[in-house]
Amino acid sequence: MATYSAPHADDLPQERRVLTAIPGPRSQELQARRAAAVSSAVSVTLPIFIESAGGGVLLDVDGNSLIDLGSGIAVTTVGNAAPRVVAAVQEQVARFTHTCFMVTGYEGYVEVCEALNRLTPGAHEKRSALFNSGAEAVENAIKISRAHTGRDAVVVFEHGYHGRTNLTMAMTAKNMPYKQSFGPFAPEIYRVPLSYPFRDGRSGELAAAEAILKIEKEIGASNVAAIVIEPIAGEGGFIVPAEGFLPRLADFARDNGIVFVADEIQTGFCRTGAWFGCDHEGVVPDLITTAKGMAGGLPLAAVTGRAEIMNSVHAGGLGGTYGGNPVACAAALGAIATMEELDLIGAARTIESVMVPRLRALAERTGVIGEVRGRGAMIAVEIVKPGSTTPDAELTSAVAKACHAQGVVVLTAGTYGNVLRFLPPLSMPAHLLDEALTVLEEQFLALTAR
Ligand SMILES: *Cc1c(COP(=O)(O)O)cnc(C)c1O
Repeated sequence: MATYSAPHADDLPQERRVLTAIPGPRSQELQARRAAAVSSAVSVTLPIFIESAGGGVLLDVDGNSLIDLGSGIAVTTVGNAAPRVVAAVQEQVARFTHTCFMVTGYEGYVEVCEALNRLTPGAHEKRSALFNSGAEAVENAIKISRAHTGRDAVVVFEHGYHGRTNLTMAMTAKNMPYKQSFGPFAPEIYRVPLSYPFRDGRSGELAAAEAILKIEKEIGASNVAAIVIEPIAGEGGFIVPAEGFLPRLADFARDNGIVFVADEIQTGFCRTGAWFGCDHEGVVPDLITTAKGMAGGLPLAAVTGRAEIMNSVHAGGLGGTYGGNPVACAAALGAIATMEELDLIGAARTIESVMVPRLRALAERTGVIGEVRGRGAMIAVEIVKPGSTTPDAELTSAVAKACHAQGVVVLTAGTYGNVLRFLPPLSMPAHLLDEALTVLEEQFLALTAR
């Protein structure tokens, strides 16, 4: 009997196929082993186990093929096991796997920094440094901002998410599940209101004025090292600030010697239909943090920014054993080449143009979608009780579960847990996106039928 081997990403039929209950029997077996071996604190959205993935699908161990509207939380932007990423990783991993860039160099690290300096907003002289995770990049952006300014205070926003390390927990807004019982948190972090057009109805100008007033009166602009903001609040529910909010804050930062940091970890690398979320309003941040979509699934993160700021830290002040690992760098170069060659910015815009009208029509039909929002392939619906803005987290989770059972992976988000977010890989075939939307519509209609 021939032994079964799981298909390569390239050979996966691009179809939705539900053969068993989800999770199926083999996933349930693995789930039992997981429960006996893995800390229960590490939870799971969908308790299936994957054996191959690529294009727009995840193939599970029971033979179910699910449409992926999550990209492992905005990571597999170029597609899972994308061909150029796989080839670059295979070539690199067979030559050497690690030297530690602080011990001896290698070209891949430099090449990734060159690409970051070239692609991020602004034509000024830039430098980059590489790390392992988004949270680590954010921490380093704070270290750099403090060293550069000689100031302590860091301004962050309501609904913001910046990671799970101690400093980034302090910067993250939402308590459960990220912060509960994990304090005390790092000091000198100050949270100000975000522009949230669906809930505050304010113009960008007005919302920025309120945030700035709070900074001036409660912190003092001259004490602020950095203002850190996501161009679109990711975990907070894909909140797109009203037009003018980001530019006004960037101006305020510049006028007051504050480092303006864009946390582009979720919005970066074509996800929003531009290289970076800041590009939509022509905002040029002083520093940018990146991770998630950059390296096709391998762990890599970066801080990129003005050379005079990046170089203001003493020699040896930044680094880490694994930061900019050569295999992760090779993956990033493969991913970036894929984005450029296949015009994935265009692909993200096409996804937006398909999703938004269908979701708006669904909002009309069901009356439970308060807002359809987002940019590119970062689209969400905020779910509310009919005729109000009262969040409906229960319905949100019911729709997500129903989609999972039908073989469509969707994620939830939002401070109030009432946002369904869609982050398809940009390699998603059109027919699968169409089918996923049909499934979503059917589940919404079934759950809201009166
Ligand atoms: C995911 C995310 C982080 C944290 O990244 P990790 O790699 O999980 O540490 C930080 N900021 C934003 C905006 C994110 O979406």
